[in-house]
Amino acid sequence: MYKRFELHNHTIESDGSLSAKELIDYMVENEVDAFALTDHNTISGHYKIKKILEKEKPPIECILGMEYTTYYGHILCFNLNEYIPWENIDKECAELLLGSIKKTGALAGIAHPFSYGAPIAQGCRWEMKLNDYSVLDFIEIINNPESLEANEQALMWWQSLCLSGLRIAMTAGMDLHRKDGFENKFAVYVKTRPGIGAQTALVRAIKTQKTYVTKGPVFEALLQKNTAVKCRIENIVKKGFDMQAVPFWTVEYTSPSGSVVRKLDKSEKMSFLPLSEFRDSSVIIVKLYAGEACMENLTAVAPVIYC
Ligand SMILES: [Zn+2]
Ligand SMILES: [Zn+2]
Repeated sequence: MYKRFELHNHTIESDGSLSAKELIDYMVENEVDAFALTDHNTISGHYKIKKILEKEKPPIECILGMEYTTYYGHILCFNLNEYIPWENIDKECAELLLGSIKKTGALAGIAHPFSYGAPIAQGCRWEMKLNDYSVLDFIEIINNPESLEANEQALMWWQSLCLSGLRIAMTAGMDLHRKDGFENKFAVYVKTRPGIGAQTALVRAIKTQKTYVTKGPVFEALLQKNTAVKCRIENIVKKGFDMQAVPFWTVEYTSPSGSVVRKLDKSEKMSFLPLSEFRDSSVIIVKLYAGEACMENLTAVAPVIYC
């Protein structure tokens, strides 16, 4: 089974307009399975959310988190159980802050890395130096309110890091500050089993780079007998995405030695590609487009394949 996660949300505890209760109700209304609370620089909403979940038992799970909002970039944390002071923040060494977040067992990643920086949005762009990527669990490759260009740069940065051999998961988020509407926005799906809590499922997915990012169907890519990549468009489709309006699908396979593109009829659900198509097939990233392969048509990114 796949669960849908909304991993970037704010409330009135920072600069959002929804209370903890309103955020829960909005997520439940929109059939979200689990959502993260990621207010800017505060965990004051944690106990409020926990109290409501315990008392009212809504059909949803919550990931407690925070967004460190610094002058040199924003860091998203999930499964954060304590506030970590950040007097050790250093623009020249992001490992210090990321490392202290991770020491507590939380997951840490970079939000909207290519957001406009100063003077339009002071501090939103990632400008910290990071040499040791092992302290980084994920990069938010799609921040829904960001421009197409900023998201494309984030996607390409994450892709190039993965192709260079680094193991970094991808996420997407609404960066929700008000009731924005979830239609045609990217979300994260995680493959899990009944009875496994959202926190555990998220940790497993992020630690193994097994998150699925999509605004339409969940898109799976698997290695077959070490000879081919098999891609499958799943029947799980995010609400609001019009499958009928897709003219055709384009599947783009990218390895360190280049990209190969395959077109599928809109009724086709599978695509196979022999590894022999690549000179270097050590890492393969597969993306799905509704139409030609361009950022406007990007629909889903499958978890990275390591051969
Ligand atoms: Zn931010
Ligand atoms: Zn945010």
